[in-house]
Amino acid sequence: MFQQNDENIMEIENVQTEQESILVCDGLVKIYKTEDIEVLALQGLELEIKKGELVAIIGKSGSGKSTLLNMIGGLEKPTAGRLYVDGNDLFAMSEKNLVLYRKNLVGFVWQNSGQNLLPYFTSLQNVEAPLYFDKMSQKERREKAMGLLKLIGIDHKADAYPSQMSGGEQQRVAIAVALAHSPKILLADEPTGAVDSKTSNMIQDIFRKINEELGITIIIVTHDLSLANKVSRVIMIADGKISTEKIMKAEYRSQLDSLTTENLAEVESHEEYSVLDKARRVQLSEESLKLAGIDSNKVRVEVQDGKIIISK
Ligand code: ADP
Ligand code: MG
Repeated sequence: MFQQNDENIMEIENVQTEQESILVCDGLVKIYKTEDIEVLALQGLELEIKKGELVAIIGKSGSGKSTLLNMIGGLEKPTAGRLYVDGNDLFAMSEKNLVLYRKNLVGFVWQNSGQNLLPYFTSLQNVEAPLYFDKMSQKERREKAMGLLKLIGIDHKADAYPSQMSGGEQQRVAIAVALAHSPKILLADEPTGAVDSKTSNMIQDIFRKINEELGITIIIVTHDLSLANKVSRVIMIADGKISTEKIMKAEYRSQLDSLTTENLAEVESHEEYSVLDKARRVQLSEESLKLAGIDSNKVRVEVQDGKIIISK
């Protein structure tokens, strides 16, 4: 159930183990109805994310990434299926509780920095803004905002207005704004879509740093494969479903601090897995079907030496 009271949230936290899921999507369906056409944006998506994980979700444009993120953020309701975030059933939640949920549990970073920052506020004022209605003195508010800007390494721009900063700097301030409320999940939708690769690398490192230092769960949506190289769990979405997952090999995970995305692009840093859904279905890529010479919709499935072989 949704907990409004901070003390209750703390109590619940104490009994939770580290491996507990913060997000569970079970057969998630989203249909958009526009006049006479229906778009099936998510078709029975299944996904589980543990507390404190940093994951990247990648997929082509139109594959359902933003739809999924907006639903996790409580901005849209699923058409069918179950969606639990930190024990809250978002499908069943009342409008009133959804407002509280959006305010207290999730932080958003959008691609367009104009969507993240108020233009007539300085960086510091932007970070302070979400805290205005909290029971907090002006001094405490200022200290918290300044602390976040420091954590992100952008405190030297505390008095700058968005128009006086580069796109990358604005995105860093946007991360501080999203963290102001101490959310449990940080959702970023193509946060580096509008910056160069060097800046994108730096922003990626910031996400990793705040994930490690604050223990906050982070979900980053991107279509940039190189950005995902530094993330230990990469989830691929295709046609509104999870198709495959890439898990970083342990040897690379331990030396992430010293590796750049360019280093990682040259090696096989991740192992790719197909995802088996609840109905034991697995999605095969067009590429592997082509390589196996499979061109019809009927395949032979046999078990040989403990392996399942799919053939023509
Ligand atoms: P992505 O973020 O991966 O590019 P989206 O989640 O934005 O994909 O979109 C998934 C599908 O849903 C697309 O076919 C898109 O056109 C459709 N879609 C998204 N939002 C809406 C909407 N508000 N109304 C109608 N169709 C939508
Ligand atoms: Mg999108």
